[in-house]
Amino acid sequence: MATIVPGILYIIAAPSGAGKSSLVNAVIARLPFVTLSISHTTRAMRPGEEDGAHYHFTSPADFVERVGRGEFLEHAQVFDNYYGTSQAYVQHQLDAGHDVILEIDWQGAQQVRRLMPGCRSVFILPPSKAALQERLEKRQQDSAAVISRRMLDAVSEMSHYGDFDYLIINDDFYKALDELAAIFTTNRLVMSQQQQRHQGLIMQLLT
Ligand code: GDP
Ligand code: ADP
Ligand code: 5GP
Repeated sequence: MATIVPGILYIIAAPSGAGKSSLVNAVIARLPFVTLSISHTTRAMRPGEEDGAHYHFTSPADFVERVGRGEFLEHAQVFDNYYGTSQAYVQHQLDAGHDVILEIDWQGAQQVRRLMPGCRSVFILPPSKAALQERLEKRQQDSAAVISRRMLDAVSEMSHYGDFDYLIINDDFYKALDELAAIFTTNRLVMSQQQQRHQGLIMQLLT
């Protein structure tokens, strides 16, 4: 029986529309040991989104109360809305041996790097500005005004790419997915983790 080793915390950031959520959902479907932290947000629900599945949708007043109670590992204002990550959920998943993904912006990434120095971070870039605009439009979930605001904010979000450990260009989706899956798989194979996970087997083999 393998021993449970605490999971690794991952931060994944990208400008809105780069394909972050599509890649994260696909990597979770492929790798059973990876789970997603569902953030709390005050932004309006998009068509097709479900409370508790995509986000915990909440009011500004409730969000502020949660901040006061210290419920968030990190929180930030992105565009005109608040977003926050539940500390208790993340710790519970890590303790159970699951790797946890935080899909958060660069401000949240800075806070998490300070609090959880063992985390790894991945930045996703689109292949061009035109592709980013096209993807935001193709998604058909935001108004023209929201899309132009997100295109403007994309440059400032992307300017932080150099603070991250890994960089993926999401041009061909399946190539980007293989690259993302490789990061999770390789980090789980490092000697210190594997020695703890398989200590029973290693003892048997060496005696
Ligand atoms: P999307 O980027 O098009 O999927 O739009 P969203 O409204 O879902 O997210 C907008 C931004 O908020 C993205 O840059 C996310 O990475 C960021 N975000 C989402 N959840 C959190 C969170 O819990 N904390 C922080 N700091 N940022 C978040
Ligand atoms: P984000 O979470 O970064 O805002 P999404 O995952 O919602 O981005 O992707 C934005 C849109 O781009 C979606 O319609 C998605 O299907 C599409 N998309 C994602 N990756 C690619 C890709 N490699 N090539 C073409 N379209 C893509
Ligand atoms: P509440 O929004 O009332 O805090 O939590 C509602 C449910 O969502 C509870 O089952 C709680 O454990 C779960 N939950 C709270 N925060 C998070 C989070 O950030 N991520 C996920 N996945 N679940 C959460």
